[in-house]
Amino acid sequence: MNVYDAERMADILEGEGYTATETIEEADLVVLNTCHIREKAAEKVYSELGRIREMKRDRTALGLETRIVVAGCVAQAEGAELLRRAPAVDLVVGPQNYQNLPDLLRQSQKKRLVETEFPAEDKFVSLPAPTAKTIRARGVSAFVTVQEGCDKFCTFCVVPYTRGSEFSRSVDEIITEIERLAASGVREITLLGQNVNAFHGLDEAGSTVSLATLLDRVARVPGIIRLRYTTSHPLDMDDVLARAHRDNAAVMPYLHLPVQSGSDRILDAMNRRHSVADFRAAVASVKRYRPDTAFSSDFIIGFPGETDEDFAATMQLVEEIGFSSAYTFKYSPRPGTPAADMADQVPESVKDSRLQTIQALVTKQQRAFQESMVGRTLDVLVERVGRKPGQIAGKSPHLLAVAFEGSADLIGQVVSVEITESVTNSLIGQLSDRPRAVA
Ligand code: SAH
Ligand code: SF4
Repeated sequence: MNVYDAERMADILEGEGYTATETIEEADLVVLNTCHIREKAAEKVYSELGRIREMKRDRTALGLETRIVVAGCVAQAEGAELLRRAPAVDLVVGPQNYQNLPDLLRQSQKKRLVETEFPAEDKFVSLPAPTAKTIRARGVSAFVTVQEGCDKFCTFCVVPYTRGSEFSRSVDEIITEIERLAASGVREITLLGQNVNAFHGLDEAGSTVSLATLLDRVARVPGIIRLRYTTSHPLDMDDVLARAHRDNAAVMPYLHLPVQSGSDRILDAMNRRHSVADFRAAVASVKRYRPDTAFSSDFIIGFPGETDEDFAATMQLVEEIGFSSAYTFKYSPRPGTPAADMADQVPESVKDSRLQTIQALVTKQQRAFQESMVGRTLDVLVERVGRKPGQIAGKSPHLLAVAFEGSADLIGQVVSVEITESVTNSLIGQLSDRPRAVA
């Protein structure tokens, strides 16, 4: 979602006459879009700001002005503290306020400023659309936020505080945005939300529609051939949505479904409001409709009170499900969240060793899944030229990276590729026949 937000901020700033630069030393304006989900990400902001401050000093010596903005969830959580700890920062702007960047930039010229109020109006309505040129430069696969915020309050998580309460965009607004992307060459859409499967936006008739209905509407946009959505919550994985994995041909056989732990005791302490059995049932229902679905998940290791038995249950769940990939995080206590004050925090050394254990298993499963593709012919959406000359690259339906020889003219098309080899983090193959027709 930060990638999406950053793109939207770039769109606004383009309207103000700014152009993006690859070289930070050249920048008249630096916007740090930040993440607060774990301590490491949040602390990185301050070290980065130290570096940027020196750069600002060098530029000032040359008579150049540099303005520094901190956006995103660290901005939301830290607010005025950022101005205090980082004297070079001009403006602090929260994730629900960046639509006002032009105005805020003007105001902050006179006085350093913090804007982190949760406004009543829908920020998306006032965001300018990207130009056709910008859309083409960003590639054939695009993110679109459809749902934001969260009301679930898992005891470890800052999202409800930094992104605010749950909100779904209207179907009309989303379709208009996607039609524009498709008209400039986008072929794959990933619908984004902190709880994307809790989507309940209004349609043109004023009725509330579910994510499954939204997926149907998006699939009808001319040019859109692939759909994905992330991140889902096991509780909101209902039968209608599972059925979309069979009935909506554009929905890819891949689902990211975070479970966090394989122990009911820990899930309860996390206030996840689902059991391990609920997660198994959600996986099974999607598999029933679409047997070749690959699953990925998120795991928090060393949540307060996690015992060896709880961790063993997590390992067992990973063994049982078999993930095509998984993200494993050491529990990071976040200020203001209930879990941070829980008594039985797990020592760092225990978290480290458990993390290593689960990562070894996840890596093994990931590799095995990738290797199972060798010898098969896969549909690949070609996204870009490859790293080696003459190569192009794209993604398989299961979101695996595939590289093969071919012409850059194929970018934006789905082609058949015979997979010959599995290397670290990607598959190698060769074009099998004529390019397939694009919808
Ligand atoms: N809404 C999604 C997840 C959003 S946060 C869900 O409910 O599953 C993305 C991931 O960051 C989470 O799935 C979790 O695994 C991880 N995460 C969140 N807070 C964390 C914390 N305090 N420590 C470690 N990992 C955390
Ligand atoms: Fe955070 Fe997801 Fe829980 Fe919401 S449902 S509080 S975003 S982990």
